[in-house]
Amino acid sequence: MQEVPEKIPLDFEPTTENLDQLNAYFEKQGHTALLKWGFETFGEKMVLGTGFGPSGVFLIHQLQQHEIDIPVFYIDTHLLFDSTYELKEVLEQKYGIDITRIGTDLTVREQAKKYGDELWKRNPNRCCYIRKVLPLKNYLEDKKAWITGIRRSQSDSRKSARMIEWDAENEVVKINPLVQWNGEEIWYHIDRLDLPYNPMHDEGYPSIGCIPCTSPVYVSKESDDRNGRWDGQQKTECGIHMPANVLNGKEE
Ligand code: SF4
Repeated sequence: MQEVPEKIPLDFEPTTENLDQLNAYFEKQGHTALLKWGFETFGEKMVLGTGFGPSGVFLIHQLQQHEIDIPVFYIDTHLLFDSTYELKEVLEQKYGIDITRIGTDLTVREQAKKYGDELWKRNPNRCCYIRKVLPLKNYLEDKKAWITGIRRSQSDSRKSARMIEWDAENEVVKINPLVQWNGEEIWYHIDRLDLPYNPMHDEGYPSIGCIPCTSPVYVSKESDDRNGRWDGQQKTECGIHMPANVLNGKEE
C-alpha cells in the first residue's frame, strides 16, 4: 500500500521527481483523493477554473460534496453563448456559490479598433491571449494551485496531461483530477447525478467556447470531439493549457 504524500509547504515548486511520485500515487487513488489533498495542502489558495463543460460541472459538484470550499472562476471573453451564462447562474443557485468572473478590460469593440475587426479570424492565438491567457495569468498571480477539467481523451494535445503538473507560465501547481476519464464516463456521472448542463451539448456541440469559434459538429455529446472549436483552423487550444513557447499570440 502506498503512503499518502506528505503535506507540502505553500511555497511548493515541484521537482520532476516529486511530481512523478505524486502522480504515481494519485493515478491509483483517483480524483477525490487528489481534490482533498489539494485542499489540505493549498486551502483557498487553490481555485477551480471552469468553462462550464461537463467536467467543470462535475468538479463543482465534487467540491460541494466534499466540503472543499474554494473559489470557482470562469474567464468571460464577452463572447460566450447566452446558454453558458445561464448555466453559470443555475450552478450558483444550485450550490449557493458565487462564481468569480475574470476577463480583460478591453471590450470587443476596443479590440476591433486596436487590432481590426474579427481578430479571431485573422489571429485567433492573439485574440485568445488577450481575452483568456492574460486575464488568467493576472488572476493566478496570488494563487498556489488551479484545478482544471481537462481530460486526456479530449485531444492529442491533452493526451499526455498528468494529474498534477507544474504550470510554469502561471507559476502555480495545476491539478487535473479527471485526466483519466473519457466523454462517456463524465456524461454517465452527469446523468446519474442529474446535474445541469448546457443544452447546446444535445444540439451537436460537444465542446462550447466563444460564439465566433464554436461550430456544431453533430456528434453525440459523449464523443469528446473538439473539432467544432476554431473550425477550419489548425488551432485546438486557446492557450491556457499550453506552454507559452507553443502559443504564438503574444504581443509583439
Ligand atoms: S476562442 Fe475565439 S473569440 Fe474566444 S478568445 Fe479565442 S480566438 Fe477570441
